[in-house]
Amino acid sequence: MIYPIIMNLIPGLPKEAYDTGHYVGVVAHATANNGDSADGERNYESTTWQNAFVHFFVDDQKIEQVADTAYLCYGAGHTANHMGYAQVELCQTTDAAKFLKAYAMYTWLLAKLLYNRKLLVVDGVTLMSHAQVSAKWKESNHTDPIDYLASHGKTWANLVADVTGQYNAMQEEDSVLNVAVLLFTKDDYWAGADVAAKNGNCAIFVRLADHSVPVDAAKAKQLIVVGGPTTKHPNEVLLTGNDKYGTAAAVAKYLG
Ligand SMILES: [Zn+2]
Repeated sequence: MIYPIIMNLIPGLPKEAYDTGHYVGVVAHATANNGDSADGERNYESTTWQNAFVHFFVDDQKIEQVADTAYLCYGAGHTANHMGYAQVELCQTTDAAKFLKAYAMYTWLLAKLLYNRKLLVVDGVTLMSHAQVSAKWKESNHTDPIDYLASHGKTWANLVADVTGQYNAMQEEDSVLNVAVLLFTKDDYWAGADVAAKNGNCAIFVRLADHSVPVDAAKAKQLIVVGGPTTKHPNEVLLTGNDKYGTAAAVAKYLG
């Protein structure tokens, strides 16, 4: 699942650098304002940012980015803001279905922000609630989003698990090859190397001794099969003939 991030930056926000030059984690907030919307919060923030502002608002309709994550925001106290936390506010609703839609985008966004910088999901370190920030640095007394999550039957531990699941899915997705070449035997190597070269020198695999397909080849988005029978891969390009001459002809035709 991928959600669009609607960029609607508030003009005139300060451009202050994080202490280390980039954000080191994320802070999860809730707005404490039942029935609000991302647009409504943005409008409010556009006139009150001198007091406080965050980078994102999420409601049940969208993810709205209002501040550049390249610069710090004023969302969680001086230490966290300056150490460098990208900060996300969850708009609040009493409607269970709307909550679940917003919560799915919220946890996805928290994971995405962490994954973009490969920060991992470390509870209380890279992924912090505003409550954790308050308890750690004692610069504010806010305890969001804990009570709001609880009002919809979620705990902070649930959120951490959900963000971790999203993060792992992003990692998994990134490890999937776009294209792989699968050889029937190593004797097909030279033909396979030409096919791989045509596809940006993509990975080449050889079928296992029982002719089964290596796991990473099977997961590739497109699998070009050189020699042997179909793998039944959903996006297979089958370059094979009745014998090695037939396969060579199929490869030659593919290479054009
Ligand atoms: Zn907060």
